[in-house]
Amino acid sequence: MDENINELISDLKTYLEYLKGMGIDTLPASGMKADEPGQSTMITLEEVRKELGDCKRWKLHRTRKTIVFGEGNEKATLMFIGEGPGYDEDVQGRPFVGKAGQLLTKIIQSVNLSREEVYIANIIKCRPPQNRNPELDEIQNCHPFLMKQISVIQPKIICALGTFSAQTLLKTDTKITALRGKLYDLEGIKVIPTYHPAFLLRNPERKREVWEDMKKIVELLG
Ligand code: SF4
Repeated sequence: MDENINELISDLKTYLEYLKGMGIDTLPASGMKADEPGQSTMITLEEVRKELGDCKRWKLHRTRKTIVFGEGNEKATLMFIGEGPGYDEDVQGRPFVGKAGQLLTKIIQSVNLSREEVYIANIIKCRPPQNRNPELDEIQNCHPFLMKQISVIQPKIICALGTFSAQTLLKTDTKITALRGKLYDLEGIKVIPTYHPAFLLRNPERKREVWEDMKKIVELLG
């Protein structure tokens, strides 16, 4: 019993440290009219991009080639949010253009949409060196801009691709295997986590679960 309590306290501590590291209490609320999903704020994506500028707010600017802001329909009902740019994305300045991107394009088509009809972004906008995982401070510093993009687009559904996206958006440290396929709420916007296409390239046997998640999205989109 004592062991269980200790484990629980340890888990709680880890979670609280995670939240602190994420700077949750500083998430931008301005313009996030999430309980009114149909209403968009006065700002545009172009303005958010301008505000981001040639961002040197945190350390990834030293090693990136380009900022990968995101692309797609400003009025998209479905938004895909991945982890961060890789090599191809860093070179081209566009999200999901490498092999994983080609798979994402197929996933998007599976819900009868095109890349131009949805919006695609990442948790961080600059490529981490050697494609390492994004660090908490990097996520934290880039997060306000993603939240502003979400605020402008006001999608009906966000499909969170992979661990970092799902954990950041849902403010949890629960594993993606436990999160995926379920429906969550982000200030009135439905969030469905699923596996990252890069993970699917390494584990093609998990594709079936992603197709199941996409079926849910189709149902929700009506
Ligand atoms: S990852 Fe985001 S916060 Fe960091 S330098 Fe790039 S754009 Fe700026």
